[in-house]
Amino acid sequence: MRFVQGGIFTASFKASGIVLRQFETGEGDRRLAVLLRERGKLLLHARGGARASGKFLAARPFVYAEFVIFDGGSFHSLSSASEIRAFKEIQGSYEKICLGLYMAELADKTAPPGENCDETLDLVIRGWRAAGLEKTSLRLIRAAFELKFTQIAGYEPNIGSCLSCGAERADFFGAHGLKCRSCRDEESVRLGSAARYAAAYILNSGAEKTFSFTLDEKAELELVKAAGLSVLCVGAAAKSARFL
Ligand SMILES: [Zn+2]
Repeated sequence: MRFVQGGIFTASFKASGIVLRQFETGEGDRRLAVLLRERGKLLLHARGGARASGKFLAARPFVYAEFVIFDGGSFHSLSSASEIRAFKEIQGSYEKICLGLYMAELADKTAPPGENCDETLDLVIRGWRAAGLEKTSLRLIRAAFELKFTQIAGYEPNIGSCLSCGAERADFFGAHGLKCRSCRDEESVRLGSAARYAAAYILNSGAEKTFSFTLDEKAELELVKAAGLSVLCVGAAAKSARFL
């Protein structure tokens, strides 16, 4: 669809994606940061859309939607949004909502505007689904998300031999990956064989596998600590993390 406004051609387009962040701007309007398939992150103005209702109902967190967007050249505004899939299960508990918002916040802080971020988009969608279904613990879902997210953001941790000396036996995890007992840093955490295997599984598989495994409690805790260290490399401290 193309329109002429004041003699200038502008256009509307459709794109699927999710809302990462939103805030009211007064006068009943809302600003949204959305992550769109193929197009990446975009800031939108929703005139009269302070509340997610009517034609803006699907423009809210935890919904994968198709957006109709008006491209005004120097600005983009939301014309309407229709639901493709709502992750209703995630809204059943405060902990799940916090985890889901944490995922969206990390994506928001690292996605460069206008660049294809489909891997991140798919990871957040799968993370929301996993948190909603809760087939594994929420802390394991968070850890798996953090590890995969770190990799997608370009900071893949080393999970082979010792990062410093190359020793094959490397049971400790620092900020950038595995290290042996001799080379480990002060902040390193132990990562036993089960947790190491899980980390390798996450990093060597696509996002569709990220949340498809379980661990015993000891290995789970190890992975949780390692993932927490790993995500620090991205340098995008999420405010919502304090609610987790
Ligand atoms: Zn070493």
